[in-house]
Amino acid sequence: MQTIEKTEPKLLDLKTRLAEINDIEAAASLLYWDQATYMPPGGAAARGRQLATLQQISHTKFTEAAMGQLLEDLRPYETSLPYDSDAASLIRIARQKYEQAVRVPASFMAKFSRHRTETYGAWARARPENNFAAVRPYLEETLDLSRELANFFLDYQHIADPLIDFADYGMKASFLRSLFAELREQLVPIVEAITSQTPTNDSYLHQVYPASEQLEFTLKIIEQLGYDFQRGRQDQTHHPFMINFSTGDVRITTRVYENDLSQALFSSIHEMGHALYEQGIDPELEGTPLACGTSAGVHESQSRLWENIVGRSRGFWQFFYPQLQSFFPAQLGNVSLDTFYRAINKVQRSPIRTDADEVTYNLHVMIRFDLELDMLEGKLEIRDLPEAWNERYRSDLGIVPKNDTEGVLQDVHWYTSQIGGMFQGYTLGNLMSAQFFEAALTEHSEILTEIEQGQCITLHKWLKEKIYHHGCKYTATELIRGVTGDVLRIDPFIRYIRQKYGQLYTL
Ligand code: ZN
Repeated sequence: MQTIEKTEPKLLDLKTRLAEINDIEAAASLLYWDQATYMPPGGAAARGRQLATLQQISHTKFTEAAMGQLLEDLRPYETSLPYDSDAASLIRIARQKYEQAVRVPASFMAKFSRHRTETYGAWARARPENNFAAVRPYLEETLDLSRELANFFLDYQHIADPLIDFADYGMKASFLRSLFAELREQLVPIVEAITSQTPTNDSYLHQVYPASEQLEFTLKIIEQLGYDFQRGRQDQTHHPFMINFSTGDVRITTRVYENDLSQALFSSIHEMGHALYEQGIDPELEGTPLACGTSAGVHESQSRLWENIVGRSRGFWQFFYPQLQSFFPAQLGNVSLDTFYRAINKVQRSPIRTDADEVTYNLHVMIRFDLELDMLEGKLEIRDLPEAWNERYRSDLGIVPKNDTEGVLQDVHWYTSQIGGMFQGYTLGNLMSAQFFEAALTEHSEILTEIEQGQCITLHKWLKEKIYHHGCKYTATELIRGVTGDVLRIDPFIRYIRQKYGQLYTL
């Protein structure tokens, strides 16, 4: 981009300002990573304040009038360039983020932020006590504030659209509602067919597996899959996440349960999928707002592709299972590959989203998405939320949560953020993962054989070139079109589920 910078000094000015903001945000991310891994508990109060200060500084710098003027001045230059050139994309994406940031007054941000902190505290107390009544007034205010937040963006079709935009820019509630309804119609009978059969025995996964060996094995797997330890590391935490400070430092975290082998194994592969995306971004985009994944859905498509489509496939374990057995000979020495493969793909009706298998997972997500729309539309009052939640679990999953702790109080999202736009990314990710993988196989049928040999080089290279390299230059919709030549569809996911689970169960 050097020649462009010479011809356009305002672009250089923009890049310099954005790079400074990026540095402040990276410093805040490092404070967050430390908080979630090694910080002693005594640091909590000060750390919260330090993070808020840095976020305030970066928000102020980003929303300065000079930034708006610069983006305005660069409009003619932007339109003179190809849409997907680095410079035009940088101006376009910076403007999109700027417009999102300036629409919401700072006083509202501060009020909502205080409210969210209080709500999170109330939820953390109410959840173990199964006390929805205690969080109800907080959630009622959250709903009011979520509507107020959406209404800073006036040109929407559905009130959820601006809230969905924060995570999955450009996805519309009306489109998602019909896509998800179609998906639900296909999934419910599959779940019924599977769960009416003899449940899979997965007790082998719940023997005692020493933590240090588990960690060592996860490191071995993710290195073999292509995670670059020169530009990353893995640490332990309560709720695993991926975080990056630059394309040269993309870290993951995992958690280990000694009585559940699948926890560390699959959360490490999941977070590694997120990390491969960030490690694969074009280094030319470093320090700009283009150097990140494009949406919650596309990000989740990568974590789920590696975790489920690759990491829970029979071919993958054909290679890795003998190695796992040599790590745990007493526990797995007499357990066959097929028995292990069935256990890690056990399908069951359960009340908890995060424990759900591939087949039932989206049903959990779509329940939350529909309830969000109903609440925002004023069709559902907070006081009726627990009953509405349980009713949907009865109709979609065929079970009723024992209590609100394993019902409406289970997920942190509504208690730490807004109501609206919090869940669709998970299902979008699952759908995209199957659609992307199908496209990869069409171009490179050798991918399946390579996976059986413990090699994922062709798949990784393809994903890097088609998806990772671009950062957030393209919206999810543009990316799907570019990679698969099609719009987002449920068919590849349903085909994947039918094929895989048709072999594991009678469908
Ligand atoms: Zn994820």
